[in-house]
Amino acid sequence: MAYNITLIPGDGIGPEIVAEAVKVLDKVADKFNHSFLFTKILMGGCSIDEYGVPLTDEAIEIAKNSDAVLLGAVGGNVGNSRWYDVAPNLRPEAGLLKIRKELQLFANLRPAYLYKELQKACPLKEEIIGDGFDMVIVRELTGGLYFGERETKKVNGVETAIDTLSYNENEIRRIAIKAFEIAMKRRKKVTLVDKANVLDSSRLWRKVVAEVSKEYSEVELVYMLVDNCAMQLVMNPAQFDVILTENMFGDILSDEASMITGSIGMLSSASLGKSKLGLYEPSHGSAPDIAGQNKANPIATILSAAMLLRYSLNLTKEADAIEEAVAKVLSEGYRTVDIADSDCEKIVGTKEMGSLIADRI
Ligand code: NAD
Repeated sequence: MAYNITLIPGDGIGPEIVAEAVKVLDKVADKFNHSFLFTKILMGGCSIDEYGVPLTDEAIEIAKNSDAVLLGAVGGNVGNSRWYDVAPNLRPEAGLLKIRKELQLFANLRPAYLYKELQKACPLKEEIIGDGFDMVIVRELTGGLYFGERETKKVNGVETAIDTLSYNENEIRRIAIKAFEIAMKRRKKVTLVDKANVLDSSRLWRKVVAEVSKEYSEVELVYMLVDNCAMQLVMNPAQFDVILTENMFGDILSDEASMITGSIGMLSSASLGKSKLGLYEPSHGSAPDIAGQNKANPIATILSAAMLLRYSLNLTKEADAIEEAVAKVLSEGYRTVDIADSDCEKIVGTKEMGSLIADRI
C-alpha cells in the first residue's frame, strides 16, 4: 500500500533525528512491501527564517492532506533574538499549537516504558521498579483550564486572576473512547485520574467515562484522585496500563511518568483526533546544545514512527518490528551518549543508531 507521510524536521536536532526515522521507515517499506511517500514542510525557526511565520497555510494544507505527520522538534535557544524578540504567536513553538489546532488533535498519548537494559537510568529504587513498567498517558489536549476563559481584574480594589475549567460531555466522551480503544490493544485497564472529591468537571468526567466503559466490558476501569496518582507513579508504576486524564493533570503527570523512565531521548508521543490523521513526535525538544554533532538519540523519534504506523496507518506488525528492533539494539549493548553508563563500550552516534535499528528490521 502507498501512504503519504508529512515530515516536519524542524530545528536543532530535529532534522538529524527525523532522517534516522525515515531510514527505519524506508526499511519497513522494503521489508513489508509498502510505499511511504514523504513530503517535507517547514515549521518553527526554519519557517520563520524562510517565510517570516512559524507555519504557513500551505504547509498546513500539505499536512492535512496526508495520512500522518512525523515531527522532529522546533525551537532554538531562547537567547536567539531573531526568533524570540517577537510576539508569542510568531515564535517557533507557535507552529506547534497551530498545527495541533488545525489538525483538530484532542488526544495526546505519551507512553512511559522502562527498558530492562536502561533500568540503571531509572531514578526509582530497584524494589519499586520490579519487572519494570509499561503505561501510556492519554491526556485531553484542547479543553480544560488552558483553554478556559480567563481574566485579571480588581475585585473590591484587590487584583484578582480568574481561570475557568470547563468540559462538556462530548469532549470527554471522544477522548474516553480513544483511551478504551487503546486499552483494548494493551492490557485492558483504564485508570481515570481526576479530582472528583472537589471539582464538578471531574464528576462529569466520571459519569461520562463510566457510560463509555459499558461499551468495553473487557476493560477494567479504575478511578484515582490526581494527588494519589502522583504518589502511585513513584510507588507502584507497574499498576498502570492506560491513564486517562484531563489537560492540566495530564500535563503534569506525563512529565512525571517520563522522568521515571530516566531517559528523555527514548520517549515518543502521538497526538490524535477523530480521523486517522495524527501527529507523532518525540517528547523532548530541539536540544540546540547538541545540534549538528551526531550526538542526539534518535530512538524517541523512531518509536514515534512506530506509533504512527500503529495508530494512523493501522500497520501493527510493522510497528512491532520497529519496537523489537530498538529493544534488540539496546540488548546488544549499543547506546547513544545520553543513555550510556560510564563503562559502556558501544557508544554510537545518531546516524549509527538509526542504521543499527534499520538493519534489525
Ligand atoms: P530539550 O528537550 O530540547 O533538551 C533538554 C536536555 O535534554 C538538553 O540537555 C538536551 O541536549 C537533552 N536532549 C533532548 N533530546 C535529546 C536527545 N534526543 N538525545 C540526547 N539528548 C537530548 O529541552 P529544552 O532545552 O528545554 O528546549 C530546547 C528547545 O526545544 C526550546 O526552544 C524549546 O522551546 C523547544 N521544545 C520544543 C518541543 C517540541 O518541538 N515539541 C518540545 C519541548 C521543547
